[in-house]
Amino acid sequence: MIPSVLPTYNRAPLSFVKGEGSWLIEADGRRFLDLGAGIAVNALGHAHPALVDAITRQAQNLWHVSNLYRIPEQQALADRLVAASFADTVFFTNSGTESCELAVKMARKYWFDKGQPQKTDIITFEGSFHGRSAAGIAAAGSEKMTRGFGPLLPGFRHLPWNDPDALRAAITDTVGAILIEPVQGEGGIRPLSDQQLKDIRALCDEHDLLLILDEVQCGVGRSGRLFAHEWAGITPDIMMVAKGIGGGFPLGAVLATEDAASGMTAGTHGSTYGGNPLACAVGCAVMDVVATPDFLADVNRKAGQLRQALEGLVASHPDTFEEVRGVGLMLGLKCRAPNGDVVNAAYEAEVITVPAADNVIRLLPPLTISADEIAEAITRLDRAATSLEAA
Ligand SMILES: *Cc1c(COP(=O)(O)O)cnc(C)c1O
Repeated sequence: MIPSVLPTYNRAPLSFVKGEGSWLIEADGRRFLDLGAGIAVNALGHAHPALVDAITRQAQNLWHVSNLYRIPEQQALADRLVAASFADTVFFTNSGTESCELAVKMARKYWFDKGQPQKTDIITFEGSFHGRSAAGIAAAGSEKMTRGFGPLLPGFRHLPWNDPDALRAAITDTVGAILIEPVQGEGGIRPLSDQQLKDIRALCDEHDLLLILDEVQCGVGRSGRLFAHEWAGITPDIMMVAKGIGGGFPLGAVLATEDAASGMTAGTHGSTYGGNPLACAVGCAVMDVVATPDFLADVNRKAGQLRQALEGLVASHPDTFEEVRGVGLMLGLKCRAPNGDVVNAAYEAEVITVPAADNVIRLLPPLTISADEIAEAITRLDRAATSLEAA
């Protein structure tokens, strides 16, 4: 008999009933150190006082009105994001995959309005993840996500990851945009180097293509900069955001330059919930904390500490781990043991990690994790690896 919850997930036998900062408390009382943060969502950990305060106040005042009206909280968050980024304008969504939908529509409308309606194709990359909507799975293109769901939305060209020659060769007069994650998340924490991102930007300029960055996972402070592309000193034309921006409340956004967004006039796109007062009040509170130099400097310090400790862990467990990769607090441990076994052993040691492709486990702790908690996380991961090796 089919379970009452549609069984599209293989769930771990864990039920968390409370969160406190970097900790998740299981129904049986066990305290897990959370290095998953709901897959890079709980940027400020669980029940952060500023977020609890923001959502409580807003909940007592006004939840939802509709985008038929001006929404002061939405305006405030858009102003914050524009002031803090390359963007001139923002549309709010409720998830990463909705941000993908709009990014694709925006790119197509751009070329349509520029009198080049043939430029409908978007180049994407092997190992990428852009969500589970029709455009999202077509964009990523993997067999695992698309099989059985055809006919797929046409117009995506899937290229190997990190193959500049293939990229150059794929640019024809029907290509209008390149869509890429600066750091692949689901694909196994695979970062582009600054130079690779600069080269892709230069290629877009040379061939008159829009650069769409998917920063749903790597954005909002996770890389140690507010947005990951800042490390390379380049800017996109369109950027997808979600996950961390809501700190646990469903919120996403598409940020764009005035030029890239020029086709999106009144009536061309919409959302019932996107940018509602509740979500945007929380988003503003997240930005208040994350978008400050002191906070980001602290993220970088802790990222250095975690990375160094993980290098030590790899050195002492060469049969379990192969290497550390990633940026900021978006780190991956490439495993030699099956990554699912490592994640399960970590559960036994009461530390949460998240599996990814390429036999990687992801470490995406709350950006607020403390130095002591990082040390404790390493102790627990060490225990997990030791027990796995003894098995
Ligand atoms: C999670 C993710 C998405 C999809 O976000 P949802 O909110 O699950 O729709 C898209 N792109 C990237 C890079 C992601 O990590």
